[in-house]
Amino acid sequence: MRIGRAAGVTDTGRRRLRNEDAFICEPPLFAVADGMGGARAGEIAAGLAAAALEEADAETRGARGVEALIVEANRRIWERALEDPATAGMGTTVTAALVDAAAGTVAIGHVGDSRAYRLRNGVLEQLTTDHSLVAELVESGILTPEEAEHHPQRSAITRALGTEPSVEVDAFTVDARPGDVFLICSDGLSAMVDDKEVASVVEGAERDVARAAEALVATANAHGGEDNVTVVLFDIAAESSDGAVGAAAQPVAEEPAVAETATGDTTADPHVVAEPEQEDAPSEAGASLRRHGAGPGGRLAAILFILAVLALGALALYWGVVH
Ligand code: MG
Repeated sequence: MRIGRAAGVTDTGRRRLRNEDAFICEPPLFAVADGMGGARAGEIAAGLAAAALEEADAETRGARGVEALIVEANRRIWERALEDPATAGMGTTVTAALVDAAAGTVAIGHVGDSRAYRLRNGVLEQLTTDHSLVAELVESGILTPEEAEHHPQRSAITRALGTEPSVEVDAFTVDARPGDVFLICSDGLSAMVDDKEVASVVEGAERDVARAAEALVATANAHGGEDNVTVVLFDIAAESSDGAVGAAAQPVAEEPAVAETATGDTTADPHVVAEPEQEDAPSEAGASLRRHGAGPGGRLAAILFILAVLALGALALYWGVVH
């Protein structure tokens, strides 16, 4: 197996003024961090977590490797908060996935209530357990999962990165098969869109993970967009070489426009998209695109312009002939 396509999208949502989520979409490493804290502290915490994870190298392997990265991220956020009183108490969630193509596994490291899912044969399985108040109340039978979904305290987390000098990380490995789609998201998606709808949106995009990521964000916003929403998707392809799977393994084509899939939303929300090249392509030079929503009318305008030039030319020719 190998990593097929991958895409990451983050959006401020419809209620928040700033986006304090961060994500990594750099095969074989994928992650989402959802920062919290006053002023810009949440943004700083999520950014520090992402920066620490990005230091993963070829030596970083398996659940223990991901756990070590997250422990290091915790240390850096904690120390920064000690140095800078303005950021005291800041923290972040983190959910990271590191693909080991040779082993056919994905290592997951997790703290907080961002989530990792695996979609296999149409069934969406939540791989992580939320470190949240409501998850604990469901676990102990006090709340039903349905009550938890609407509980006023549903965004209260019981474990975070950077709020204590040390952190307990959930780290484990799951198997991956060709055809699997992995999703990492912040609670801005999972609190707005239930698992069934997430599965149907991803399936509806027919293995185009960039389109699926945009559609998930659009769905969260259509359901209220109460929080920053971040989605990272990647799929698992068979080993290439024969044409049948080759098609699915092509790098993501240039997306027409954010606005085209965003349920008619044309507001200027900060909306960041990254579509890295596939794993085996050189990833240093401009691998991830950063783009803000451009109108879908660009191509139409160009065609109209060319038609107008042609019409003027024909008119000039006609004028020349009759005179
Ligand atoms: Mg959130």
